[in-house]
Amino acid sequence: MSFCLDIPTRIISGNECIKQNPSALIHGNKAVIVTGKHGAAASGALSDVTDILNENGVSYILFSEVTENPPLDTVFKAGVFAKDNSSDFVIGIGGGSAMDAAKAVAAIAANNLKNPMDIYDSEKTACPSLPIVLIPTTAGTGSEANPYSVLTLPDEVHKKTFTSRFSWAKTAFIDPKYTSSLSYQTTVSTALDAFAHAMESYLSPKANDMSKMLSVYAGKGIWDVLTEYPDSFTEKHREILSNSACAAGAAISITGTGFPHPLGYSLTLLYGVPHGSACAVFHGDYIEYNSRSAEGKSKLEEFASAIGASTKLMSEYLPALSGVELTLSDEEIKKCVDLIKEAKNYRNSPYVINEEEMNDIYYKHFGARRKKQNA
Ligand code: NAP
Ligand code: FE
Repeated sequence: MSFCLDIPTRIISGNECIKQNPSALIHGNKAVIVTGKHGAAASGALSDVTDILNENGVSYILFSEVTENPPLDTVFKAGVFAKDNSSDFVIGIGGGSAMDAAKAVAAIAANNLKNPMDIYDSEKTACPSLPIVLIPTTAGTGSEANPYSVLTLPDEVHKKTFTSRFSWAKTAFIDPKYTSSLSYQTTVSTALDAFAHAMESYLSPKANDMSKMLSVYAGKGIWDVLTEYPDSFTEKHREILSNSACAAGAAISITGTGFPHPLGYSLTLLYGVPHGSACAVFHGDYIEYNSRSAEGKSKLEEFASAIGASTKLMSEYLPALSGVELTLSDEEIKKCVDLIKEAKNYRNSPYVINEEEMNDIYYKHFGARRKKQNA
């Protein structure tokens, strides 16, 4: 097998990694720090960053208005703010929402975009983005190790990924202690997202030996932690989850994700289900459908055995952990399907589900009529 591994980010993981590598944080004279309202400060990462910037005489401005599933309009506002204030590098601190926003801000601030949607026109974002530094405070998306920026469009019901060869971070700092301020349920949900990346990447036709190695490393770490059924997460658990999430993020930079992701987007945008839980609901279906093809079955068994699990256990345990309870009418299910039926992810696994199967899957989990019949 041949492969190409092109991950141009210096990834530094470990306790106090920012303090120990201050020069890797500084990529200019004036930073724009991109965060949400709460997580960056609560995690301690924001003060670690500003301490280093202050000690080194680097000025900064703060944009702390990023919300979950970052809206394109918000990141456009942040990009204009960065440009108007002559920022010359971007530091994204937070979960996937703040890190994804930071990649878009870096592109907007470096180009003359008239409208937010211009970000999806590669000719209009041809100038290299500002240098980016990413600091995760969740252990889930792995955004720090890939160039994807998942944004919510102004209609508020569609997500569209912005990506460019300039969207890789110069440096990613992974200090697991920043995830200690996360709630138990957000820790589980974000871990489920990382597991989704690992498994969906492994089954992708684009997977290669290198991406599979990353998937297995990530999948095993997360599976071991979650199947310990911990009452609370220890420092060791958080270290394993953080490093695993990063590895899985790098794996999907090679392969992309599979169909649980778009099916989950509708639950997130229409019903507020956190991203990782929204994907994990569909992992039993992902395993069931892919097991119908000889290639899918064999890849799933290979992955399960490499991480010390079984396909049966995974298909029961992952949806159960997601904890999503919803009842949807036929019209609501149709809307869920309509929003995501054109996604490219369906072709990214051995078994390609069709629109009717998407309907069946939503119906099986959430269908009001079905639930009534079973009652
Ligand atoms: P998130 O939306 O970034 O954060 C979820 C919540 O947790 C927010 O309310 C956030 O608060 C809070 N939070 C974050 N870190 C915290 C901490 N250490 N302590 C306390 N609260 C904290 O969640 P996420 O799951 O990490 O990211 C999801 C987003 O990433 C989605 O938009 C998804 O589509 C995208 N995504 C991207 C990729 C990729 O490869 N780039 C992959 C998968 C998903 P604040 O808002 O106050 O910070
Ligand atoms: Fe994801």
